[in-house]
Amino acid sequence: MSKTDLIIIGGGAAGLMEGCAAGELGLKALVLERKAKPGRKLLMCGNSRCNLTTNISEDRMIQMFGDPVGAFLDPALRAFTPSMSQRWFAGNGLKTVVKTGNKVYPHMDRAADVLNLFTDLLRDQNISLACSSVVQSLEKTTDGFRVTTDNFVVESKYVLIATGGVSYPKTGSVGDGQEWAKKLGHDLETYRSGLAGFEVEPAVIKDRVGKIYEKVTVDVFSNGKVIGQTRGVFEIEKWGVGGTALTDASRIVARHHLKNYVLKVNKFDGTAEEIRPINTRALKEAMVTVGGVTLSEISFKTMESKKMPGLYFAGEVMDVDGPTGGYNLQAAFSTTRLAVAAVGKRLGKKGYPETRAPEPRYSSRKRAPSRQRRR
Ligand SMILES: Cc1cc2nc3c(=O)[nH]c(=O)nc-3n(C[C@H](O)[C@H](O)[C@H](O)COP(=O)(O)OP(=O)(O)OC[C@H]3O[C@@H](n4cnc5c(N)ncnc54)[C@H](O)[C@@H]3O)c2cc1C
Repeated sequence: MSKTDLIIIGGGAAGLMEGCAAGELGLKALVLERKAKPGRKLLMCGNSRCNLTTNISEDRMIQMFGDPVGAFLDPALRAFTPSMSQRWFAGNGLKTVVKTGNKVYPHMDRAADVLNLFTDLLRDQNISLACSSVVQSLEKTTDGFRVTTDNFVVESKYVLIATGGVSYPKTGSVGDGQEWAKKLGHDLETYRSGLAGFEVEPAVIKDRVGKIYEKVTVDVFSNGKVIGQTRGVFEIEKWGVGGTALTDASRIVARHHLKNYVLKVNKFDGTAEEIRPINTRALKEAMVTVGGVTLSEISFKTMESKKMPGLYFAGEVMDVDGPTGGYNLQAAFSTTRLAVAAVGKRLGKKGYPETRAPEPRYSSRKRAPSRQRRR
């Protein structure tokens, strides 16, 4: 049995960034990932183009998350802001570009470039990434935690759970982290579909499948009151209605636990249509999970459990979700960097650069050398 400073469970957006941040701090860390390759969901992000973050201020971002998530994320988003995120990627050799709606993408529009950047940094910083390592259990020991996989057992004083939500389970996020948290005394918020489309009566989509309405606003009404408004695209799909304006509306429905609601779609040409959905699409089809480890049991200043010192959370395993547009990855990056900063502090690491972007590792005009060439 070996020991390391920090065990990170989950090699997705949060876990990979955590490994990189641990490396920046000079920590010994081990990332455990159940799949044969890390970052399966990351590769799907933004239709494989990866909408990394937004080009708006942290104040606006916090406001857009809405409470309770915005209030919880406040210190994390101020410690690693959306602009720091852009600088961090650029400083590590991946230029980003801002597109419509303030969405930030890697300049070649390839999610794979983001994943390669993470794995290159882990390798360069001697952070171990163990794939095909399904963590079966997480237990408390007298001075830390024991993590058991199918093939080995490892212990550490500090563990970070970054196992994601429960949507798109084929990517590896199936709710294990939430179950361990529950066994270790945490409450879970019920899972709901966030950022999903809506199933509707056939009459709503009849003769319109494939039609896209740009620049719509959607008012979410419940009991005669507007609960929220979204804007973006409205698309008629085979299975129902979707598009960014509708998926964002599903998050409002989930966050407010709405049962009876109407969506009023205001179109660019001045017309409007009212839709009374049958249901939000199934959670496995949602882009994010609303629900997860209860926020009141996690310190928003450090991401450490209030119930189990030494245990940290990052990303979607918590009851954290945001609208479309790069909010969810930014939340994963900011929460995970806040967590590693706290672990670093506990281990006596001074001068953690969480609020500064590192100096460029490569010329900003050149792309980082490919993995093969650098090996
Ligand atoms: C289709 C789609 C498109 C999206 N597009 C965007 C976008 O463009 N911009 C954006 O901001 N957000 C987007 N999101 C949301 C974003 O992908 C997630 O919010 C983000 O990936 C959450 O990061 P995470 O690290 O918390 O979880 P994940 O990325 O899900 O990573 C969790 C990891 O933990 C591993 N794991 C789970 N259990 C175990 C275990 N027992 N042992 C070992 N490993 C385990 C999983 O295999 C997985 O790799 C999108 C989501 C989807 C589904």
